[in-house]
Amino acid sequence: MSNIGAIKPASVAVGQDIIFDALHTMRTHLQMEIAYLSEFVGDKLVFRALDAPGLEHIAQVGGTRDLSETYCNHILAGDLPELMSDTHDIPFAAAMPITKALPIRAHVSVPIERSDGSIYGMFCCLSPNPNSSLNQRDLGLMRTFARLAQSEVQRTLEVKAEAEATAALIETALGTRNFEMVYQPIFDLASGRISGMEALCRFKTDPYRAPNLWFDDAARVGKAELLEICVIETALAALGDIPPDLYLTLNASPETVATGRLAPILAQHPADRLVIEVTEHMQVGDWAALDRSLRALRDMGIRVAIDDAGAGYSGLQQMVRLKPEIIKLDRSLVDHIDEDRARRSLCAAMVHYATETGAALVAEGIERQEEVEVLRDLGVDRGQGYLLAKPMPLRELLETHHGAQKT
Ligand code: C2E
Ligand code: MG
Ligand code: MG
Repeated sequence: MSNIGAIKPASVAVGQDIIFDALHTMRTHLQMEIAYLSEFVGDKLVFRALDAPGLEHIAQVGGTRDLSETYCNHILAGDLPELMSDTHDIPFAAAMPITKALPIRAHVSVPIERSDGSIYGMFCCLSPNPNSSLNQRDLGLMRTFARLAQSEVQRTLEVKAEAEATAALIETALGTRNFEMVYQPIFDLASGRISGMEALCRFKTDPYRAPNLWFDDAARVGKAELLEICVIETALAALGDIPPDLYLTLNASPETVATGRLAPILAQHPADRLVIEVTEHMQVGDWAALDRSLRALRDMGIRVAIDDAGAGYSGLQQMVRLKPEIIKLDRSLVDHIDEDRARRSLCAAMVHYATETGAALVAEGIERQEEVEVLRDLGVDRGQGYLLAKPMPLRELLETHHGAQKT
């Protein structure tokens, strides 16, 4: 079903279900053997959806026929009617080779239009047997079901067009390097000194769009790996300018980690200074591949952090499974922790878990001094947040924070 999408699987699947239901309902109502939705692509008819039990050898989804051998263009031109009870009664149809070859006797077919009025293809039912009971009411019903399919086709084409535009935008941003990296310091809460920094991406668009939206879009249109790896390579290029006592953490989705492509890229850099932050709230599709890739990274000496811990509903299970060396507590748990007993208990539980598993705990999104104090008292190792330092260009970060004491 190449042109009915494949870019946004969930919604495409819904559309296909509706189209298939429409085809099946019409086919069984008309007591015919084959129902299909076609798309015209150049001089070909492409089967986009099909209901033809037992007759799969005649047509398959994705299969094609030359449009010139089919009835379609003749129906659109008015040379053949949309409803034919018996093609043998219609000399034009009877003379066409396909009529005998398939064979086709009863045939009902109506056009499917795109939103701009151009013809997308046909919604069609056919049978090798004549059917004298076919009438205008059947044709009316066929048109109704075809409209249903048409709205699904239009919706899917819009999704596809939108995804293509998004993909093009991402490729342009990458091609023109229309982004830059900023770095947010991570402080040791006990000593107040900077211990590392997180690389965060800024896309230079007007109006500004937060990076997570870009990465979400990229994931939706199958460009996540491309975008994430390009950004990671850019962040890594600055590693030589970062003093050796500081580590650098890089964000990556589980999907990108699971590709196994990070290891060779990171291998060119000092592994003990690198941390990969895996986003906790993303669904993991292929745990085996993720486990393999994480093992390869750890074998190199790279540490793994779980990002936004405590934010997602399945997060704890993921955390147990990922066995992170660093746990980054989500901002939602840190926000006004000094005024909220529940947050404090959760944070204490995380401190306990981190201690038991030998992980370091980093609190994200610290905005108030009271939060720093509670977090430090609870035993949280490190902190990151606007109160301590905002994300900034590397040079500014090093001038302002390296060697200085913060908390
Ligand atoms: P994240 O990895 O959890 O990054 C932390 C986010 O919290 C950053 O937002 C940071 O600017 C923001 N932040 C830090 N301190 C505070 C604070 O005190 N208060 C508040 N309200 N926010 C704070 P940012 O840079 O907009 O990034 C948002 C998300 O986008 C990131 O969340 C990460 O998931 C994604 N992202 C950003 N850069 C990259 C990147 O280079 N690669 C990938 N894969 N994802 C990235
Ligand atoms: Mg992060
Ligand atoms: Mg985070």
